[in-house]
Amino acid sequence: MPGVGPWTLLWGRTRECPDCPRPGSRVGPVSAPTAPDVTARRNAVIEALTAPPLADVVDLVVWVEHLDGRAVAHAANHLGRVRLHPGGVHDVLDGVDPVPSEDPMAFLPYAREVDSPGPRRSVDNAYPYAAERIQSLFADPTRSPDLAIVHTPRHWFPDEGGHVGEHGSLDVIQSRAPLVLSGARIAQRGLVDAHARLVDVGPTLATLAGVPEEALRDADGAPLDGAPLTSYLLEGEETARRRVIGILWDGGHCGDLLHLAEAGELPGVRRLIDRGLALRGGAVAEFPSITLTNHTSILTGLGPGRHGVLGNVFYDRATGRRVVPNDASTWHRSAEWLRPGVRTVFEMVNDGLPQGAVPRTASVDEPVDRGADYATMALIRSSASSTGAAGLGDLLPDPAGSAHLRTRAHLQDSYYAWCTQVDDLGLQQMLQLWQDPATAPTLTWWANVVTDAGHHAGGPRSDIARDSLRDADARLSTFLDHLDRLGVTDEVSIMLTADHGFEGADSAVTGSWRPALDALGIAYRDEGPGLVYLLED
Ligand SMILES: [Zn+2]
Repeated sequence: MPGVGPWTLLWGRTRECPDCPRPGSRVGPVSAPTAPDVTARRNAVIEALTAPPLADVVDLVVWVEHLDGRAVAHAANHLGRVRLHPGGVHDVLDGVDPVPSEDPMAFLPYAREVDSPGPRRSVDNAYPYAAERIQSLFADPTRSPDLAIVHTPRHWFPDEGGHVGEHGSLDVIQSRAPLVLSGARIAQRGLVDAHARLVDVGPTLATLAGVPEEALRDADGAPLDGAPLTSYLLEGEETARRRVIGILWDGGHCGDLLHLAEAGELPGVRRLIDRGLALRGGAVAEFPSITLTNHTSILTGLGPGRHGVLGNVFYDRATGRRVVPNDASTWHRSAEWLRPGVRTVFEMVNDGLPQGAVPRTASVDEPVDRGADYATMALIRSSASSTGAAGLGDLLPDPAGSAHLRTRAHLQDSYYAWCTQVDDLGLQQMLQLWQDPATAPTLTWWANVVTDAGHHAGGPRSDIARDSLRDADARLSTFLDHLDRLGVTDEVSIMLTADHGFEGADSAVTGSWRPALDALGIAYRDEGPGLVYLLED
């Protein structure tokens, strides 16, 4: 039985500081969203963070400045400072451009990434859609930080919640999630040298489920940030009721997933690609490349500046509260963090379908589930558990009895063991939802977590990371075999993705920016760590 540890460890770096107030508690006076003197204090913080002694741990500092009424993205490090415009236009303000490449296809073919993992300098790295993604992080009226710090890819910070494998960066590898499209209404193209964005996933799922293009809007009627990947979708005669399945392998590393699939080691993924396509550049996550931010972007088609979930932990100046959406005790409350303009893909699909006894939409093991007719977290909402999912450990199957666990020794990692239980329960739900094709949902969303545990524990390409992909593939194969038995495989559209990538830390690259910030004597909060809020004294 796992204790609280694995639950709170789940999905990214959630630093639990004993001095920080718990969610729901009040901290100090409420500050104005932007204090008048924020520029001077922010500049002092940027100067401290870009000092050469911090170059091993601070990859970039990013923020926005308002110029001519527009929020313009900026980035700096010890090498220089740049103003970033959408479309990749850069004005270098000082030194050299610290973000010289925004190439979403950088480090491809995959051998290039394997040969040069974890670039030591930002000028050897790439940051796709830098301006667009930075602008979105800073677009929330009360939850956006004053600046964000990007860890260097190799930064090793176990004392502050870091792991052997990490994610969260603006860089291309931590932001690269796999994107596989397969089955009904999908072009058969195999491996394609192209990329998409995670905000495109929800609109594509909705389109495959039959939602018309004009209905792909937020609650205010504005177009979504993402768009359906129509160039890979086939127009055609309707021959069967639409059935769409979206699958998420949390932290599933794009390059290694495709490499193992091509090598025949992930037969389930291989079956999907053989009946469709995979993008070698995957799908670019929103920034920060953190779990709850990107689950929400996937399932709403919006960037964080519009959906409001800025990280696994963030601060809201409007309420003076620290918000922790990525925690076993709070996942079932995810709808509370969504901004008013948000519509989930479940709501978009439901709107076009009559309500009945059969679920139109289903959400398996996913926190961002508002509107889904069937939702795992609804069981928790309707239960008496005062600690959310954290109080329901007894419902989970024994991990030692898992039929999908390749290497028993991984159960010594308590997070891996817990993920094995959760993912086995996820597969059980999928098989129940799909017991009878006549009653299967139009849209089924299936989140898996063991891939995050494997990559945090060992970093990309480690034995445990690869086994986590193999375990997830075993569950996928069991489900695909089930569809084959039902005889509906060719009628179903399937999309496989993740919420972020991963890079491996280097145990020789240690240190913290906190002493440099503390020395300034400026009141601040650092949530994540990496989202910095400047506070009134
Ligand atoms: Zn994740």
